[in-house]
Amino acid sequence: MSSSQAVPRSFHKVLVANRGEIALRIMRSCRDLGLSTVAVYSDADRDAPFVRFADEAVCIGAAPARESYLVTNKILDAARQTGAEAIHPGYGFLSENADFAEAVVDSGLIFVGPPPSVIRALGKKREAKELAMAAGVPVVPGYNEPAQDVATLAAAAIHIGFPLLVKASAGGGGKGMRIVRSESELADALERAQSEAMAAFGDGTLILERYIERPRHIEIQILGDAHGNVMHLWERECSIQRRHQKIIEEAPSVALSASLREQMAQAATALARSVGYVSAGTVEFILDQAGAFYFLEVNTRLQVEHPVTELTCGVDLVIEQLRIARGERLRFLVAPPATGHAIEVRWCAEDPSQQFLPTTGRLGAVQTEALPGVRYDLGVAAESTVGIHYDSMLGKIIAHGATRADAIALLRRALQQLWAPGLVSNREYLHRVLGHPAFVAGDLHTHFVDQHAGELAAAAPGLDPLRVAAVAATLLQIDQRRRRQPADEIAIVPGWRNVRFSDQLVTYRCQDASIELGYLVRDRSVEIAIGGKRLHIAHFQVAADRQAVWFEEAGGLRRHCRVFADGATVWVASEGRLLRLDETPRFVEPGAEAVQGGLTAPMPGKIIRVLVAEGAQVAVGDALLVLEAMKMEHTIRASTAGTIQALHAAVGEQVDAAKLLAVIAPA
Ligand code: ADP
Repeated sequence: MSSSQAVPRSFHKVLVANRGEIALRIMRSCRDLGLSTVAVYSDADRDAPFVRFADEAVCIGAAPARESYLVTNKILDAARQTGAEAIHPGYGFLSENADFAEAVVDSGLIFVGPPPSVIRALGKKREAKELAMAAGVPVVPGYNEPAQDVATLAAAAIHIGFPLLVKASAGGGGKGMRIVRSESELADALERAQSEAMAAFGDGTLILERYIERPRHIEIQILGDAHGNVMHLWERECSIQRRHQKIIEEAPSVALSASLREQMAQAATALARSVGYVSAGTVEFILDQAGAFYFLEVNTRLQVEHPVTELTCGVDLVIEQLRIARGERLRFLVAPPATGHAIEVRWCAEDPSQQFLPTTGRLGAVQTEALPGVRYDLGVAAESTVGIHYDSMLGKIIAHGATRADAIALLRRALQQLWAPGLVSNREYLHRVLGHPAFVAGDLHTHFVDQHAGELAAAAPGLDPLRVAAVAATLLQIDQRRRRQPADEIAIVPGWRNVRFSDQLVTYRCQDASIELGYLVRDRSVEIAIGGKRLHIAHFQVAADRQAVWFEEAGGLRRHCRVFADGATVWVASEGRLLRLDETPRFVEPGAEAVQGGLTAPMPGKIIRVLVAEGAQVAVGDALLVLEAMKMEHTIRASTAGTIQALHAAVGEQVDAAKLLAVIAPA
């Protein structure tokens, strides 16, 4: 317990040292308490919604986080410059950095979070596990000692048995973990894990844990004040994960009986009490198939998934954090009963069909449907550019219903209605997960995404939605040309040619499909030839914002499509799918053809490893280069066997999407 925090201290202006949806969400609660807000932002976020929302905003540097959001001094300077008295760190970035918290406190400001000593004590998995054991909290059996020589680690590993999990003590966010399945992999895995942990976190300490098969991830929300009071706000289940990172979370968990729930909540508060926890925090556990639970770690900050607790418990966790930071006592000490059921999805710029690779783009719109019980915590708006510098999460959508089934139905509708053209996202994937029978039955575990990968994969878009999309895209273009036409030429309809009944041709590519269509415009109506059929479109209309097309087919069938044109690309929402149609140019531009045997960057990023040299012989699937983009590593592999003829990439180089990286001369 920190006595200095127990002294009441009022503040009027809060600086939020974060970006995106969480910065916005925190500022809303500040406003609700009557406080002023200061945003700090990087060059890449100049026009972001959170910057516009803040009462004041200070630019703190270039796009890379290490030049802006991770620079303590720049953030402290911004606080001084604006007269902010308190700093809320959000999640990620500096939120669990004890040195940052200390620097904030040392400069006479209030850190909205736990005391630096508590962050430090819980920051490393090894030390946190020791504290948990001391508080009588069950931990995953394994090796958790300070001795770190490979012989000691290897002996401990053999004692634990396989499969086992090697974790970097300083790791986080799913980074620094690896499964070892047999003794033969052990020595190599330990050495690599140590050097990777050293490189990534500046601390090579490892812990070893028995690998729990198909566990559930259950965590307990805690709150502590500076007067020694600690309470919990029940659990959240976060078992739906990809790459060890959560994508769907809910409260309550269907896996817990009342007594198990009580035991886990008691374990979490016992640990929090033993370390003098102050502010909001989360104690994470895994629950095995037999119903035994084990401590994983404590996150000394607000979690991404905190809204499901807010909706079921009727509290605003940010407001509670701010009150605690003012030195106030917890307003209640017993958890309010959780009512109804809440589910959150993390809406991300990523492509589930490409191993969830992050995607980039500019959003043509972000439109949501107002639904009772649905909360949208979004960090993007129309015109937002989503780049490579930060996490791929665009926002969260949270639904609260009387029952779990209600929450699922509401959330699926919210996803279905979300209109955000301009990039590929996991919107449809989340919709499919929520509709999967195993999800609906509550049969969850951390390998859900892998186990059901086949059923969760997107089917190729059916012919019908493709055709409807192509027709909509064409009508949009006809309308556009019509508008561009000078008034005195208006009589000459677009697509008009001197040959009667000769169709104007247009070809679109959509994923692997190619759709060709011919059209003929006659005054108000359009004839379209597609897939061997002729459609007579008696009437069509394009919305004023050019983001919707209505058209009437013969027989009065009226269709409505949302559309967004961006150069030669048209995004169309058709039967719940967002389809990207690229109009193929009539003539291939010179140089646009792919180099035979060439490998290109799948996305913009930085080359962090080059694993081959020119002249090397490679087999199909050999790793050639490693690209780091949006905090993840992507290995570029040989697509053909042969010799590396050219290598156009160097370590440290920043590359654009589609840049030619290597050329293989086939064997
Ligand atoms: P991080 O700090 O990187 O988030 P955690 O220790 O919190 O790492 O674990 C993240 C996820 O990894 C868990 O939610 C769970 O899915 C999985 N995991 C962690 N420890 C184990 C274990 N011993 N056995 C099986 N899965 C585990």
